[in-house]
Amino acid sequence: MTITNPQAYLLVAPSAIMMLSLALFTAWHFKRDQRYLLFLGCSLACTGLSLAFQTVLDRSQIATWSTVSGLGYLFGAWFGACALANKYGVSSHPRLSFAIGLTTLAILAYFSLVEEDLVLRIHTLGIGLGFIQILPAPAIFKLPRKRERLEVVLYWTYVMFCIYTMLRPAIVLAIGNPELNNFVLSKFWVVTTIGSMTFSMFFTFLLLACSVQGTVSKLSDERDHDPLTELLNRRAFHEAAESLINDRRLQPISLAVGDIDHFKYINDRWGHERGDQVLKKVSLTMRSQVRDQDLVARYGGEEFVLLLVNTDIKRAEEIVARIREQVRSANDAMQEDKPLTISFGITAVPLSGSLSAAIDQGDKLLYQAKGAGRDRICTDPVADL
Ligand code: GH3
Ligand code: MG
Ligand code: MG
Repeated sequence: MTITNPQAYLLVAPSAIMMLSLALFTAWHFKRDQRYLLFLGCSLACTGLSLAFQTVLDRSQIATWSTVSGLGYLFGAWFGACALANKYGVSSHPRLSFAIGLTTLAILAYFSLVEEDLVLRIHTLGIGLGFIQILPAPAIFKLPRKRERLEVVLYWTYVMFCIYTMLRPAIVLAIGNPELNNFVLSKFWVVTTIGSMTFSMFFTFLLLACSVQGTVSKLSDERDHDPLTELLNRRAFHEAAESLINDRRLQPISLAVGDIDHFKYINDRWGHERGDQVLKKVSLTMRSQVRDQDLVARYGGEEFVLLLVNTDIKRAEEIVARIREQVRSANDAMQEDKPLTISFGITAVPLSGSLSAAIDQGDKLLYQAKGAGRDRICTDPVADL
């Protein structure tokens, strides 16, 4: 086997693909929970090695070794499908992939060892690879969650590549004389290697970008939310509320400050863990009673703040009454005749008004409710008019 100059140039593409696989292995080393980085690394390593192997083969050896190189490509496709499946938590259909892979290899062996036919081998491999790659795609398409734009681009790039893999032989052969008699130097081979390299680069870039975006959004989520109740924390509440109260279309806005009554008793009587469960339950109840555009925050230990948009004081009172009713009826938290109660102070937030002033006023009303014996709602008398 002697490697000619054009062959050496063509080795640039598989080398680049293998470098990308190294980059992915390195990324995975630092982010072990993102196993799709490892899978894509394996996929590119298998594809790159197979491309390099076929590129350096002599013309006479291509047919003899076609099942070996085919196996490498099939593993590459399989790992690629695993990467996408792992990223979205769907199945990569291992059994079906195995069956497709085995059938593809059997047909490759027939057309190389029994009846030599390069064109049919190329078609067989393209279709086999494309099918294995596309297996996880329908399940991902059906996933209900909202996706970031980058993820949508990643998904459709992948699907397009699967279709391209299946159709590439037909397209290249249709374009004109692909000079297949000198396979490695043919247009077909140049298109194949350059196409694989371009896709690998683009897809790796997209996947790494998605991985970074996922990490950043997870961090900002952790920064904005209370870990126990998953409600907004005080800082994030202020940030979100400031922009809402400056929006004329969201008026009237009401603010409710709530505090669980005798919460210390729950902790002292049944332990801190039970106290935590109560906090989670109350938070869930609050979230379930408001709309998506409203804000619910854990403002302190057992103190909550709700910002209700397009809601006047009267309507806010109704919402808060429903929350109190639900909390009271979920008696399992207390395991005693005494129900769980929350006191509330409700005030209005005028357009472009001061959030801190509204919270102070809500707090004042809350303590009025506490002073009056707890288990009640106090509303702003001025705003009530
Ligand atoms: P009041 O009716 O006047 O509001 O009385 P209270 O007992 O609810 O209020 P107090 O301020 O005396 O006690 C609040 C308690 O909440 C004290 C604190 O240990 C507890 N607490 C604060 N954060 C947490 C938490 O994250 N988990 C649990 N389990 N308890 C917490
Ligand atoms: Mg309390
Ligand atoms: Mg308190």
